[in-house]
Amino acid sequence: KHTAELIAAGEVVERPASVAKELLENAIDAGATQITLSATRGGIAQLQIVDNGSGIEAEYIDKAFIRHATSKIASAEDLNHIHTLGFRGEALASIASVAKVEVLTRTEQDEYACCYRIAGGEPQGTEPGARPVGTTITVNELFYNTPARMKFLKKDASEGTYVAETVLHAALSHPEISFRFIREGKQQFMTPGDGELRSAVYAVMGREFARDLLPVDGGNGVYRITGLITPPRACRASRGTQHFFVNGRYVKNRTMMAALENAYKGTMMQGKFPGAVLMLEMPADLVDVNVHPAKTEIRFARESDVFDAVYRAVRTALTTPGS
Ligand code: ADP
Ligand code: MG
Repeated sequence: KHTAELIAAGEVVERPASVAKELLENAIDAGATQITLSATRGGIAQLQIVDNGSGIEAEYIDKAFIRHATSKIASAEDLNHIHTLGFRGEALASIASVAKVEVLTRTEQDEYACCYRIAGGEPQGTEPGARPVGTTITVNELFYNTPARMKFLKKDASEGTYVAETVLHAALSHPEISFRFIREGKQQFMTPGDGELRSAVYAVMGREFARDLLPVDGGNGVYRITGLITPPRACRASRGTQHFFVNGRYVKNRTMMAALENAYKGTMMQGKFPGAVLMLEMPADLVDVNVHPAKTEIRFARESDVFDAVYRAVRTALTTPGS
């Protein structure tokens, strides 16, 4: 039983950042307006997430940690119509099979919070606790029972940086939620959660980067592009400051990157790259997000349409006077 669990866990849980991604998505799905994520030793020793979302009903907690018990996919067809971020119903089960997990959660209907512990896939029991409505999940000693997987991790600092990027992407794609990120005991950023992309960018990428950003709002046909880009000749941008999202999800995509950089042709200094936070909204059936469930690669049905939409939107933003 455990071998199968552990193999399956590897597909979702590769490193602390993948745990952080799943925990953040769950908190977002739960309707939280404030989310705090803390990472200790790059998230290997501990990852903790505190949210003010719906909470998990006490009777349901066990099920939340059982593989596929909560899967929302009824058929293959459903894969193309996923609206909540979580859809596989296996993240918590996978995480709990390779770490020591503690959950403290309370719903509006419950008077007390419920504290649940599970380690290496074995439930350790439940006891009453106290906290406001919402959920705190603490993941301790990731891969403590899978030394082979532990060996694949990089240095704490590198793993911590991957976790930081994951929180950054969550914060940029949800400006309506206030995200706080604490790394090795020190607060790295806190977004205001006021719904403005610009203030989220300011909070996570800094004042220098956020200055003079140009608004993007354009596209082509069924492809709509919004977001913010650095002005031409901005020195503080780099490829590391290019962040792309498709239908609310962070993605790595060469087509979008090429379109962005092409649109800046002739306006950039040699060796410099534009910075951008670009959101593409498009019909779900023209994008295959399921190339790998836990990865950020995606495939477009019509690459050249996407290229054209991004190129046009960015070009328009760059050439609009007064912007
Ligand atoms: P999925 O998100 O795909 O349903 P998960 O294993 O990530 O699967 O989570 C299992 C279930 O646990 C979720 O469907 C949700 O009902 C519940 N859950 C997990 N995290 C939270 C949270 N932070 N707040 C409220 N409910 C949660
Ligand atoms: Mg989930």
